[in-house]
Amino acid sequence: MFCPTCGTPAPETAAQCPSCGGPLLTGAPKIVVVHALRSPGLAAVLSFFWCGLGQIYNGQIAKGIMMMIAYAISAFMMYLLIGFITTPILWIWGIIDAYREADRFNREAEIG
Ligand SMILES: [Zn+2]
Repeated sequence: MFCPTCGTPAPETAAQCPSCGGPLLTGAPKIVVVHALRSPGLAAVLSFFWCGLGQIYNGQIAKGIMMMIAYAISAFMMYLLIGFITTPILWIWGIIDAYREADRFNREAEIG
């Protein structure tokens, strides 16, 4: 490699230029793998406003759509009164699930 300051050839392992003492770039720039971490709070909030949305945010598209459909059916069943029981359960479960899944995703991302 060559010194970026003065152009003197320097050993690959050198951290400083032997000629001018300037800093050397050691090797190729390391590619920093940044995991797109998910916010459990945001996942929960999304599910709070729209059942299943937090799951989609977590990348669980099919699950999210299923929950939206289930929620719609459940809401429709309010006419049959049973929906008054199932809808809040689905809604709350959706929030908790979204939070947990985002949290699990982050922990797995940290492990690698
Ligand atoms: Zn130099």
